[in-house]
Amino acid sequence: MYIDDTIAAIATAPGEGGIGIVRMSGEKALDIAESVFESVNKKSIKDHNPRTLIYGNIIDDGKIIDEVLLAYMKGPHTYTKEDVIEINCHGGFISVKKILELVLKKGARLAEGGEFTKRAFLNGRIDLSQAEAVMDIINAKTDMSYNVAQSQLEGSLSFKIKELRNKVTELLAHVEVAIDFPDEDVEHITYENLYNKSKELRKEIINLYETSETGKIIRDGLKTVIVGKPNVGKSSLLNAILKESRAIVTDIPGTTRDVIEEFVNINGIPLRIIDTAGIRDTEDVVEKIGVQKSREFFESADLAILVLDASRELSVEDIDILENVKNKNTIVLINKTDLENKMDEDKIKEYIDEKRIIKISALERKGIDKLENEIADMVYKGNVSQGDSVMITNVRHKDSLERAINSINDAINAIEDNMALDFIEVDLKNIWDYLGEVSGDTVSEDLLDTIFRDFCIGK
Ligand code: GDP
Repeated sequence: MYIDDTIAAIATAPGEGGIGIVRMSGEKALDIAESVFESVNKKSIKDHNPRTLIYGNIIDDGKIIDEVLLAYMKGPHTYTKEDVIEINCHGGFISVKKILELVLKKGARLAEGGEFTKRAFLNGRIDLSQAEAVMDIINAKTDMSYNVAQSQLEGSLSFKIKELRNKVTELLAHVEVAIDFPDEDVEHITYENLYNKSKELRKEIINLYETSETGKIIRDGLKTVIVGKPNVGKSSLLNAILKESRAIVTDIPGTTRDVIEEFVNINGIPLRIIDTAGIRDTEDVVEKIGVQKSREFFESADLAILVLDASRELSVEDIDILENVKNKNTIVLINKTDLENKMDEDKIKEYIDEKRIIKISALERKGIDKLENEIADMVYKGNVSQGDSVMITNVRHKDSLERAINSINDAINAIEDNMALDFIEVDLKNIWDYLGEVSGDTVSEDLLDTIFRDFCIGK
């Protein structure tokens, strides 16, 4: 694919900082840079060794905009495979903005979100799963999510998909030979052989697919809500969890009132705690419980943590909440176990599996480790070190694999029914296409736009 325009963007995060970087990619990147940059040694950029930092100034109309270090990376051995210029200027809002405006005036176009990475994909340096991994690295909330994304960027998933597709190609070749040269004196693949190989392939695709449940949680976090009556210790629990692991706090945009989400790291699992219904604001919990948003978060949560107060008897309100959470993925915490115990545990066991009932004291920070272990157990299902292996973390990939599995099921059914090879050929081609969606070999323009739109500008 031929791309003829040159894009530019600020590559660093907005805000005050030591350095800001303006990045350009495309055919005119060097010319534009030459027109705005004056090196201290008065040599033009192209007379310097590529990939060295050149010290100089950005000049507009004879006036110095900023003192910078400029790097010229000649394509195709660059991030985008095109000529890339990076201008390291002073951080903050103004310098980067002025330099960006200047290069735009000189003929560059403002890059769209993820457009540098999109070019890396379109120009064939990385496949689509690797491009998506770039975003996952930027968004990673724990070492584990980072490691899985890093391994995907290195090509672990691409390699796996290629391997699976090669197996499909091999089967297709056998089937096509048998269709095209039915009477030749070559030995054709038998239905039995085709059946066995298809089943092996199905097993491999399913194994990969089955990593997606844990994978999604590692990438996006386990959406968790803390529920319970006022004064049972929800806020104290949240604080106890936050104290143990350094939390990353973010606001969820697009909600009418402020909903805070905090990421805490539980054995590599990003626990996305939605602080809603006034977890921290005990005064009007009851009122806020009714807030539609809280309801929605509760309904869509992957995990509900119900806090009960050990020093009080189980109330009608507690039972009501138990009714609400019994069909969800729920952990019950009996809090305040440092006080006299009045809790009827047997009653709770009627609603929740015993293993999921944990005694804690948020005040004394006791039992938090048991909670963490239970969460890890729930997500990893006994297999830890999953971060090292190939994992499906992206819903898009999961959907494509699901379609591939449906097609291989169709193929296997067709083989079992001794149907004509042409039918089996169609199914095999579908599997090949669906697997190709993961790596981006078979993917539409629209889908590409959707994927890269979520990227940040400058990446
Ligand atoms: P929330 O309304 O559910 O968020 O409850 P809070 O976290 O605000 O706690 C209510 C009261 O219970 C506060 O006075 C806390 O100090 C106290 N509390 C919380 N956890 C414990 C605990 O484990 N033991 C004891 N003794 N008190 C606790």
